Amino acid sequence: MITVQHLQLQSRQLLKGDDAALEIDTLLAHVLGKNRTFLRTWPEHELTDVQFDHFHQLLQQRLEGKPLAYILEVRDFWRLSLQVNSKVLIPRPDTECMVEAVLKLGDGHQWRVADLGTGSGAIALSLAIEHPEWEITATDLSAESLAIAQLNAAKHQLTNVTFVQGSWFEPLTGKFHCLVSNPPYIAADDPHLSDLQHEPQHALVAADNGLADLTHLVFLSNDFLHENGWLVLEHGFEQGEAVRSLLTQAGFQQVTTEYDYGGNPRYSYGQKPC
Ligand code: GLN
Repeated sequence: MITVQHLQLQSRQLLKGDDAALEIDTLLAHVLGKNRTFLRTWPEHELTDVQFDHFHQLLQQRLEGKPLAYILEVRDFWRLSLQVNSKVLIPRPDTECMVEAVLKLGDGHQWRVADLGTGSGAIALSLAIEHPEWEITATDLSAESLAIAQLNAAKHQLTNVTFVQGSWFEPLTGKFHCLVSNPPYIAADDPHLSDLQHEPQHALVAADNGLADLTHLVFLSNDFLHENGWLVLEHGFEQGEAVRSLLTQAGFQQVTTEYDYGGNPRYSYGQKPC
């Protein structure tokens, strides 16, 4: 029999990285069916053989590079616990900053919003939980992604989101007060991609140095926006200037780039003129 504390020490010899201790505790808490407070309170708690084997199986996957969110098939985003798997991008805290911006822009309004390329549903569902009165549409090209997004809507009993399958604007009907998207924006030759090999490449990589989908979204959004409607787009930390220039060329006003929690330019938006 091995105690929590002993296993923590043993595992920290194996798993390296800034978040190793937190990740080990998260796996351990999962295996025990407890929260992390339990681990701190009961370091001398003993694992059963079955729990020990289960923990090692999960730790092994982490040692092989699989992200924790895919091992546990869950990731917290905004105030939602979202189901995820390798068919969808793992929602990032950076994207929460963009959610916050949409909420600020839409404050006091009865909005119709579309989240284009919703993946796990992170953006659409965060807006939905904050504004049950908003009418939200979530699109994705992948039926597998939409199935997960729908599962997440059901998990949180969010009924004000409609899910439609298709590429970007293709499945939309009518006009919106806000279009928001976290599209693929990484260049195919970006060395950073080697760290993201477990995630769906179609959700990460875009042609034209990462700008192909962003460009498509900027130039085709006009027909789907009401006058004074907003287009809000996540992008790479070095793409702020390029995206602002696209938005300006397409006739958007109030063009602004804002920063993520890490202090990097992360999303830009503009308003369709009257
Ligand atoms: N922000 C993610 C990353 O760089 C990429 C997300 C995306 O391409 N939309 O890890």
